[in-house]
Amino acid sequence: METKKKDIRALTKEQLRNFFVEQGDKAFRGNQVYEWLWQKSAHSFHAMTNVSKETRQMLEDHFVINHIRVDQMQRSSDGTIKNAVRLHDGLVVESVLIPTATRTTACVSSQVGCSLDCRFCATARMKRMRNLNADEIYDQVVAIDNESRLYHDRPLSNIVFMGMGEPLMNYNNVLKAIEMITSPEGLGMSPKRITVSTSGVPKMIRKMADEEVKFGLAVSLHSAIDEVRTSIMPFNANFPLKDLREALEYWYSKTKNRITYEYVVWKGINDTQEAVDALVKFCKFAPSKVNLIEYNPIDDDEFQQASDAAVAMYQNTLERNGITVTVRRSRGKDIDAACGQLANKQ
Ligand code: SAH
Repeated sequence: METKKKDIRALTKEQLRNFFVEQGDKAFRGNQVYEWLWQKSAHSFHAMTNVSKETRQMLEDHFVINHIRVDQMQRSSDGTIKNAVRLHDGLVVESVLIPTATRTTACVSSQVGCSLDCRFCATARMKRMRNLNADEIYDQVVAIDNESRLYHDRPLSNIVFMGMGEPLMNYNNVLKAIEMITSPEGLGMSPKRITVSTSGVPKMIRKMADEEVKFGLAVSLHSAIDEVRTSIMPFNANFPLKDLREALEYWYSKTKNRITYEYVVWKGINDTQEAVDALVKFCKFAPSKVNLIEYNPIDDDEFQQASDAAVAMYQNTLERNGITVTVRRSRGKDIDAACGQLANKQ
């Protein structure tokens, strides 16, 4: 009977070193293999050329490397690239490369589908099938980095966890992936160039604060009025704004990292003076800035981008109150690669 082989990248470096000792080999062999698995992103044991054939076979007998496969790559007229990424069990997630004049950003997924139910988001229509493992998140970044070098002649500069899924509902694996992305034994990127975007899970925001993480935090706010927020993001009923606000104040007190609020202005939903005033008030609890993002339609009549005048009203009011605000245009819309459009449509 064949026993199920273990994903070798689920092992820490220490565990891998111990494994080799148990096999009667040297612990150092674990370091070599670890380097192949992460820094060199080997797809097979066969590729590990400084390890003996016998050792490679022994590894093959015990483990698998669950490397992702980019099944389909689409390129937008604006340079945005979307990857459909196939996982070892056949499920598919998407990741996106967004180039601008000064940076290339990877937008990666953390779950297959999503646990939440935001009514304006295409991913929410898929149910959550499973969490991604740390290596599956890491591999998405490596794939985008390679594409960035190939198509844009520069390495990846930033990473945002704004693809499919709610990263804070897959906390351990997201943090482990970030650890490898920032480690010199992985990609060696600065945590300052990484942003985790959440719809706002207060308990997990507090946990991150306690762990004094070094990456940035973005919160998809969309409304600072409970009633409105619950109507468009139903889980808000369980995590009301007061709890979110207190968790964010705690985050700032611990990390001294200001918070980014992502915010879409919709016609008839939050395009009122009252809504702007509530946002201004919310922004004053902890240092923050606001990204006004464009709505990307998802075949639904219920949500429509507000008028330019309403967006300008937001911008002016926020600025008048000393709050930094940027207005973001969408990228990659022609290939369904923009925020909220990831739903494996292809
Ligand atoms: N679950 C995380 C990350 C994924 S969503 C979060 O909620 O932050 C990434 C961003 O896209 C969020 O700010 C989300 O609110 C926004 N978004 C979702 N659907 C959208 C749409 N149709 N148009 C524009 N932005 C959308």
